[in-house]
Amino acid sequence: MNLHKGVSGQRGEFFATSTRPPAHPIIVAPPTGLATVSVDSNCNFDPRLAWQQEELPVNYFGAFLRRRFGGRVQRVSLDAGFTCPNVDGAVARGGCNFCDNRSFSPSRRVRLKQVSEQLSSGIETLRHRYDKVAGFIAYFQPATNTYAPVDQLGEVFELALSINDEVLGLAIGTRPDCVPDSVLELVDRLGSQHYVSIEYGMQTIHDESLRWMNRAHSHADMVNAIDRSRGRKVECCAHVILGIPGETHDMMMSTADEIGRLGLDAVKLHNLYAVRGTPLGDDVESGKIAMMSREEYIRTAVDFLERIPPQVIVERISGEAPPSYLIEPKWCLEKSALRLAIEGELRRRGTRQGSHYLPPALPPSQRPVPADSTPSRIRQQIDRRGRLPVLKLET
Ligand code: SF4
Repeated sequence: MNLHKGVSGQRGEFFATSTRPPAHPIIVAPPTGLATVSVDSNCNFDPRLAWQQEELPVNYFGAFLRRRFGGRVQRVSLDAGFTCPNVDGAVARGGCNFCDNRSFSPSRRVRLKQVSEQLSSGIETLRHRYDKVAGFIAYFQPATNTYAPVDQLGEVFELALSINDEVLGLAIGTRPDCVPDSVLELVDRLGSQHYVSIEYGMQTIHDESLRWMNRAHSHADMVNAIDRSRGRKVECCAHVILGIPGETHDMMMSTADEIGRLGLDAVKLHNLYAVRGTPLGDDVESGKIAMMSREEYIRTAVDFLERIPPQVIVERISGEAPPSYLIEPKWCLEKSALRLAIEGELRRRGTRQGSHYLPPALPPSQRPVPADSTPSRIRQQIDRRGRLPVLKLET
């Protein structure tokens, strides 16, 4: 079944409740109207819930990809030389307080050839590391990967998809204020033939926290982007950070509730962590800001997972940085142990992802599609910038 064919109607019975379920029922086709994926109208079973039959505690991304592509799928991170409107002055300078953006300069010289080389060498490395890999996803990761004229984005994305048959799709990391309708039309077109995921940096729904991070966009920008993305043949993923200073437990749970309210397809959950050379890193080193403890993160992440829809794919349950860059918290380096601890806490509570999910009064599929609110400063900068270095230096 193609999981990317638009949103189907409501059907079946939804068993998730706000109290702990007596057992783990198979949840059938709930009326969530998630952003893009559909449920076969001839059967009752929602493939997004296959993880429950496999007795998994969480709708993990790796298992989703295995089901969809018939084997292990690895992502290859690509740097196509994009910059960011939060760094070059289009909306702000300096970037987010947690982001090491010193290398995001418009004068960066990443050649198109280098993009294909990054992809080919990444594939080769992963082939050596893992026995059997069914395919790869080209992951446009650093900076804002939709910050360019749409025809140039098309050239870069199509290049990645055409390098070899093992490239099954794209993942595109971006900001919610940098996806004009023209970009969504492009990814919709690419998504009709390939797996395509857009990863939006939502982080939180609280504007005061977004200001603290110097994100230079509001949560309204995220709502606008998702309401315009819904129904297109693209998976919509939100990055979320837990442990932002000043955010209470209730505030973080409101962010969890927004995942279902907006009908996101996937989420990447991160603990706040600080790396060297960033404003946040300086504040942590000087003792101005403290990171969440491991125990607190485990409890909060489990509370979060319990509140999001069971259909949502969980692409990450913690964040990490290379040990030489990471300042705090060091506990996030032990990723596997952390995952086991989160699963252990779910087991101890007798819950799993979605156990406490309550569908919103207005299903996401019934939310109106708003007008494109991409800031004019971002549009102007895209128009002014000319050809991307990655394309200029093609030869
Ligand atoms: S929006 Fe993304 S790329 Fe830009 S500064 Fe923030 S984290 Fe870095």
